[in-house]
Amino acid sequence: MRVAVIGAGPSGIYAAEHLATQYQVEVDVFDALPVPFGLVRYGVAPDHFSIRSVREKLAQTFDNPLVRFRGNVRIGRDLMPSELQNHYDAIVYTYGASLDRELGIPGENHPMSIAATAFVRWYTGHPDAIDFSDHLSKATDVAVIGLGNVAVDVARILSKSAAELEQTDIPQYVLDALSHSTVRRVHIVGRRGPANATFTTKELKELGEIPGVDVALDPADLPDDFAHASAGNKVVARNLDVMAQWSQREAIADRNIEFHFYCAPRNMDLDNGVLIVDTMKIDAQGLLIPTGGSKEIAAELVIRSIGYRGEGLPGVPFNEDTNVIPSVDGAVIGLENCYVAGWIRRGPSGIIGTNKKDAVASVNTLFQDRENTQASSSAQIDELLQHRQIDVIDFEGWKRIDAREKELGGTRNRDRTTIHSRQDLIDIGLGR
Ligand SMILES: Cc1cc2nc3c(=O)[nH]c(=O)nc-3n(C[C@H](O)[C@H](O)[C@H](O)COP(=O)(O)OP(=O)(O)OC[C@H]3O[C@@H](n4cnc5c(N)ncnc54)[C@H](O)[C@@H]3O)c2cc1C
Repeated sequence: MRVAVIGAGPSGIYAAEHLATQYQVEVDVFDALPVPFGLVRYGVAPDHFSIRSVREKLAQTFDNPLVRFRGNVRIGRDLMPSELQNHYDAIVYTYGASLDRELGIPGENHPMSIAATAFVRWYTGHPDAIDFSDHLSKATDVAVIGLGNVAVDVARILSKSAAELEQTDIPQYVLDALSHSTVRRVHIVGRRGPANATFTTKELKELGEIPGVDVALDPADLPDDFAHASAGNKVVARNLDVMAQWSQREAIADRNIEFHFYCAPRNMDLDNGVLIVDTMKIDAQGLLIPTGGSKEIAAELVIRSIGYRGEGLPGVPFNEDTNVIPSVDGAVIGLENCYVAGWIRRGPSGIIGTNKKDAVASVNTLFQDRENTQASSSAQIDELLQHRQIDVIDFEGWKRIDAREKELGGTRNRDRTTIHSRQDLIDIGLGR
């Protein structure tokens, strides 16, 4: 039996591992990028060393001779889902959720209004990233819209000095741009209050630990009764304690991070350097409602961090409302022999480990449904890709890229420097 897994992020790799070790199945793991690991490479913040090191554990899956990496192959362009169905006994879709969401307010399409998805791609060295170097030399105040961990990551990267980020694997040109950044204040803006933010406490606390950076928030935004506001949620209770300490501080450092709770963005007037927000409050019934007032937050650059969303593939069922592939126990509804796991199954939530449980469950469903059969040989799919002149990067190719990134880092006393050019990645991967 042979299975194709679409997406070499954590959910795809966990699915491949379970298929190979539990069921001794041959697996081809396809990824649109020349390198594996999905958001562990292109999402997890570069200064979160221990989380990024999960890559080493994930890489071990490819040591199993039953698992092949097929990088630089975009399903839906280089190979169609219908073609995969002719060559594999089953397909597991694990291609994540990479699009951004929009606020739908005036000024959102201004060149200085960018999505956090795009900004994260830039600082992690994604091959398709837009270069935001110039943006950082045109702004002193940046508004990051959103009250989740991605907003916190973005605020932290913008606030840390280049010297601190030098120890990371950030691409050299990004590091150079950050070292010339004119940004002095980062405003974290959200329509809801501190008790409704989805930060985890560890990430939140890190903002207060950046040397030379003060964190400020209005004490009036904190609830009167922390125990009532956190409603038994320990993370919320801890977050409120952290924020209560900050609310006593004054933002007097050279660089500041300021929270603006209860502020719903209404208009981005970025030519005049302001984000206009409607102020919100909680009414007697506990509902979030506008106060009728508004305020201006200084911002020459806005980064919208309001979530990721998935997209459909030709011939694969897709729910346009929830932006996921519809499934029951991991089996795609309306398409035989197709399964789904990870963010494209559940939507963009959950940490890396959440995807393991998900992938294992989907693979188990696959095996309850299937009898052992033998699909066409792997040589046929390789021939098809060769015929289409696709430069397929295998796991040996990734090892060459890995070695070159370490070598490149070494030239500047860094452990690794991420290579961001797709062509360079392909050339190195192919040993050219
Ligand atoms: C900014 C950010 C920071 C995060 N930080 C943390 C953290 O600190 N700790 C933590 O535990 N979790 C973190 N997460 C969450 C974690 O990254 C996700 O839970 C996890 O990566 C989701 O796994 P996935 O395999 O479903 O999707 P992904 O990781 O997105 O992998 C999907 C893969 O599919 C590929 N692909 C997409 N389309 C196609 C196609 N058409 N053909 C072929 N391949 C395709 C992509 O290139 C990608 O490699 C973070 C997420 C983000 C966005």
